[in-house]
Amino acid sequence: MFEPRDHVPAPAELAGRVVAITGAGSGVGRAVALACARCQANVVLIGRDVAKLEAVHGEIAAAGSPEASIAPLDLESAVARDYDALADALLERYGRLDGLLHNAGLLGTLTPIEHYDVPTWCRVLHVNVTAAFVLTQLLLPALKRSADASVVFTASSVGRRGRAYWGAYAVSKFALEGLSQVLADELEGISHVRVNTLNPGRARTAMRRQAYPAEDTTQVPMPEALTAAYIALLGPASHGVTGRAFDAQPPAAPSPAAAASAPDNSARSSS
Ligand code: NDP
Repeated sequence: MFEPRDHVPAPAELAGRVVAITGAGSGVGRAVALACARCQANVVLIGRDVAKLEAVHGEIAAAGSPEASIAPLDLESAVARDYDALADALLERYGRLDGLLHNAGLLGTLTPIEHYDVPTWCRVLHVNVTAAFVLTQLLLPALKRSADASVVFTASSVGRRGRAYWGAYAVSKFALEGLSQVLADELEGISHVRVNTLNPGRARTAMRRQAYPAEDTTQVPMPEALTAAYIALLGPASHGVTGRAFDAQPPAAPSPAAAASAPDNSARSSS
């Protein structure tokens, strides 16, 4: 049974592959970009903050991994010509694309639906869902030309079972599960493109701090600890696996204190 979180990446597992990652300048995206480069992928670092992307680019170069490239794109404000410029630059440089990880995301606010700010709702849905759809659509012809391509959408536990106050973020993650299933079904049998979702689970990042400001961060795994599942889904280990939903970590067991005091384990759950 294929279980990406148990995967042990081989040193050159992604050699010869071009993998594009959104939100590659920080958090989970940065960690996965470095891990893919270590596995010898050419990584396309997509993000809105060029300084952060340059720092990751430098880390990849310093590690002696294949040279990465930087693709600035603000998913909130990008228009058609920005997406076209990204695709043109990517294909001009590499002529191919084998992996696409939709990792960038916005949390929005933790607010009851009754009071949720409508502009914030629209921003979150746009960045988390619509931008991922547009980028996928644009890059799909290149992915279909690959002999073994993978699209991964980043999921969340609140996008698999709804939880109070997670508002637009939770709804956006449910939407990504739907987008992934629809696309996987459309591509199965007519292409070599597989499509899956991956929930990183709890990771010590800026978004996690925003969602759980009082949390003891020393108890939260670093994103670097979660990258094996990403390599498995982006690389040959997941060949033929499509339309599925995965987790990068085993489900968190509620702590005895939390179990005793709370009706659920939401404080230990992932965002
Ligand atoms: P971060 O906040 O560290 O990373 C989010 C990334 O998205 C950043 O690189 C950020 O760029 C980028 N981003 C946000 N808005 C835009 C935009 N408009 N255009 C381009 N890029 C943008 O959080 P995480 O690393 O934790 O999140 C990564 C993914 O993992 C998200 O999809 C999140 O929903 C998911 N996730 C995280 C969990 C956790 O516990 N951390 C749990 C479950 C899911 P910038 O660096 O410029 O801010």
